[in-house]
Amino acid sequence: MPVYSRVLLKLSGEVLAGSKSFGLDLKAVEAIACEVAEVAKAGVELAMVVGGGNIFRGVEAVKGGMDRAQADYMGMLATVINALALQDSLERLKVPTRVQTAVEMRQLAEPFIRRRAIRHLEKGRVVIFAAGTGSPYFSTDTAAALRAAEIRADCLLKGTKVDGVYEKDPEKEPDASFLPHISYMEALTRQLKVMDATAFSLCMENAVPIVVFNILRPGNLRRIVLDGERVGTVVDSSKG
Ligand code: UDP
Repeated sequence: MPVYSRVLLKLSGEVLAGSKSFGLDLKAVEAIACEVAEVAKAGVELAMVVGGGNIFRGVEAVKGGMDRAQADYMGMLATVINALALQDSLERLKVPTRVQTAVEMRQLAEPFIRRRAIRHLEKGRVVIFAAGTGSPYFSTDTAAALRAAEIRADCLLKGTKVDGVYEKDPEKEPDASFLPHISYMEALTRQLKVMDATAFSLCMENAVPIVVFNILRPGNLRRIVLDGERVGTVVDSSKG
């Protein structure tokens, strides 16, 4: 029996780049699609929000002189490219999907309509939310927190390249200890980088539990959603 009946999986764009530092690695996309397909075929309602950092990140373009809003719209378009790649991979694995975009582009995807998204999930379709929130100055983490609350997901699974949350940055301080379970308050007061502040406070206010885990380790998604194993870091309102 799956532990969760409806989940929102957030994928950062960089996990779709594979070993490349930029763009899409179709083998990496396929590998992730396989993990998602296994969970979807087990009957779990699965929605996804995908980032775009492997293609374009607004704040970085601003450093080069671009207008922030303009750069952010480009970033949102990058997430649509990733969403279409994932959709293609999932459908080749015989998983029915729908892409819904927060910025209308009707020739290639449905516009975001909350009730329709829920209906798709109930019918066993994986719904991929693209174009973030549709507004500049936000992140796809915030879009994930927002959509998770809107579809009343049991939890937000943040699939990353790292195993979870550490007390310090493990890349700078190799002795940093791993935190398997923390409360929202602890993450805030210790300034642990779970998500950006807007995303994080949305989860806290709406009591959406977060699991930060390594999506690049095969089987992790299944372990969390189907087997109920403790993988990664859980952030919720209970004590750590
Ligand atoms: N973005 C935005 N509004 C949103 C979501 C995303 O403007 O609601 C833009 C922003 O420029 C961001 C880019 O899209 O840098 C890609 O998203 P993000 O950096 O969150 O992707 P990730 O880091 O998850 O790959």
